[in-house]
Amino acid sequence: MNNTLPMVRLESVHKSFGSLEVLKGIDLVMEREKVTCLIGPSGSGKSTLLRCINHIERINSGRIFVDNDLVGYTERGGKFYEMKERDTIRQRQQIGMVFQGFNLFPHMTVEQNIMEGPVGILKVPLAEARADAHRLLTRVGLAEKATAYPNQLSGGQKQRVAIARALAMKPKVMLFDEPTSALDPELVGEVLEVMRDLAASGMTMIVVTHEIAFARDVGDHVVFMDDGRIVEQGAPSEVLSRPSHARTQAFLRGVL
Ligand code: ADP
Ligand code: MG
Repeated sequence: MNNTLPMVRLESVHKSFGSLEVLKGIDLVMEREKVTCLIGPSGSGKSTLLRCINHIERINSGRIFVDNDLVGYTERGGKFYEMKERDTIRQRQQIGMVFQGFNLFPHMTVEQNIMEGPVGILKVPLAEARADAHRLLTRVGLAEKATAYPNQLSGGQKQRVAIARALAMKPKVMLFDEPTSALDPELVGEVLEVMRDLAASGMTMIVVTHEIAFARDVGDHVVFMDDGRIVEQGAPSEVLSRPSHARTQAFLRGVL
């Protein structure tokens, strides 16, 4: 695979729910080992965009490539065919996703939550999966919580476990959908710190966030979306400090 190609590429992506057009032609490139931050008002289509990349939602037209594979389609003999569910699941495994709500399995311990995917889906041997889970827990600063249950953790700790769980599948790219929005303000920092470390390690990340300071410090590329379209994008220093569009300026002033 040619590693100079972008990790994620969207070409003219359209997505509607019934008569409501939510993505109105999105062209976007997300580079390898970079952090792309998606910002924009509520309802502008940010979550839908992530869900389309992960093939949770199916697009109406356009194309999405992840690591040069066409999402939802397989190529045979130069022709493209719609993927079977089994192949879609395999493709989705290469894409980690962290949601606003923590989505941990409440009846499983922290380490069981992290081991579930590797053992159940990737068929990694138990001992190896457990060692990997502990390594990841250390990485997110929760080594001592391996045998705790989710309801014994703070929101910030749950979200760090959710990140470790996604990483356990060894994804090519990590998608974050407002990972700190549900947290009490004093718990936001610990989650952003883990994300900052992950970015420094070279993970390709796409982050929907309202944390403008994070986008400025950690983001390599910032994309401002409004009403299903990309209004402007560029380096954080441009988009966040010198936005050229009135909508972006209004959003950053907190008006939208
Ligand atoms: P954002 O994440 O930027 O707040 P969303 O992608 O969640 O925006 O939503 C964009 C628009 O699509 C909203 O109007 C929302 O109500 C609508 N929408 C999202 N998901 C669905 C769905 N499954 N069915 C119908 N409408 C949806
Ligand atoms: Mg959203």
